[in-house]
Amino acid sequence: MNRTDFPILNEQVYNRPLVYLDNAATTQKPQAVLNAIIEGYTHWNANIHRGVHHLSQVATQHHEAARQRVADFLGAQSANEIIFTKGATDSINMLAFSFGEAYIHEGDEIIISQMEHHSNIVPWQMLCERKKAILKVIPLNDDLSLNIDAFQALISPKTKLVSVTHVSNVLGIINPVEQIIRIAHSHNIPVCIDGAQSAPHLPINVQQLDCDFFVCSAHKMYGPTGLGILYGKELLLNNLPPAEGGGEMIEHVRFEHTTYNTLPYKFEAGTPNFIGSYAFAAALDYIDSIGMTTIQQHEAELTSYAEQRLKEIPNIRIYAQGLTKAGVISFNVGTIHPFDIGTLLDHMGIAVRTGHHCAEPLIDYLQVPGTIRASFGLYNDKADIDTFIAALHKAVDMLS
Ligand code: PMP
Repeated sequence: MNRTDFPILNEQVYNRPLVYLDNAATTQKPQAVLNAIIEGYTHWNANIHRGVHHLSQVATQHHEAARQRVADFLGAQSANEIIFTKGATDSINMLAFSFGEAYIHEGDEIIISQMEHHSNIVPWQMLCERKKAILKVIPLNDDLSLNIDAFQALISPKTKLVSVTHVSNVLGIINPVEQIIRIAHSHNIPVCIDGAQSAPHLPINVQQLDCDFFVCSAHKMYGPTGLGILYGKELLLNNLPPAEGGGEMIEHVRFEHTTYNTLPYKFEAGTPNFIGSYAFAAALDYIDSIGMTTIQQHEAELTSYAEQRLKEIPNIRIYAQGLTKAGVISFNVGTIHPFDIGTLLDHMGIAVRTGHHCAEPLIDYLQVPGTIRASFGLYNDKADIDTFIAALHKAVDMLS
């Protein structure tokens, strides 16, 4: 599907055609996104919001139009709810700091899960250390899905926030976030959804989800690196203090006292990535030109085809086998080290990820040194998977 829109897919690796199956780490960029970056720097690059001159006004209009584009894409009520950040990690750090300053005190509790990316663990851990709060962890069922009964049992009058991933970057499992949000809200607890791995694969509507906060990264959605989104309900964001100080986020600065800007600027200290936001809007236009539902179906077919074909490999262990996944499969073969398989696959032109995938607590839980992860994007096809499986057979034969 639409391979020719992605120039990098014509690259050769070790004289072999590139088969790119590391989309959970980052996606490749369509020509439309590359064009947007070149167009911005070629025609209207100027710092935004503070210039009276023409270029500054054009740049400002593009940046604010991109904010509205993201709001529409995520189903937010208002563009004021869209904060541009450096990435999903930055979004969670900002939220952890700001929410922590406002609401977290000694003995309070924050709930995350066993399958979180380090980005949705460490910022909360740092907050807990700062405030002497307690981090609680939703355990997994035997099939590696989240244990929702255990989640309910973890909730206490001290619980101040729940932050869970929508889709696991290791297992590909789609978590029942609607149910988690409903349960948390019945106790008046706000929920942050880490959408870094869901926004590239599933249609997202934050109002339907009713999540309080949602984060994602542009580079995993066919957009540029260095740009992320922190969505928050307007009322909640209005009540939070800024996470960083500097230009843009202020109303007036005096040495005695500074007053802060309104949303969304209160959370955007310094010059924002306005070329990135323009390119991200182009990525969202590109996604919508195909249709998120079409992408979801295509990737679901690829994922189940890959899972089916992986079963051919002797001694394979596919994690969370049979559960509904969003474009990600993790596995191990016998006792072969994942790194060895990844290296041999690389020499055959196949890019997969091996290791702990920035989710060490989950990998420890699986009691393995790491996994091999194949992750799919809209441009992958069955031929990619056939090439990958043939190469995997060879690698396993060589290492057995
Ligand atoms: N959460 C999840 C589930 C992820 O997969 C990632 C990226 N691997 C992140 C957060 C962090 O995203 P970024 O590195 O773009 O900040």
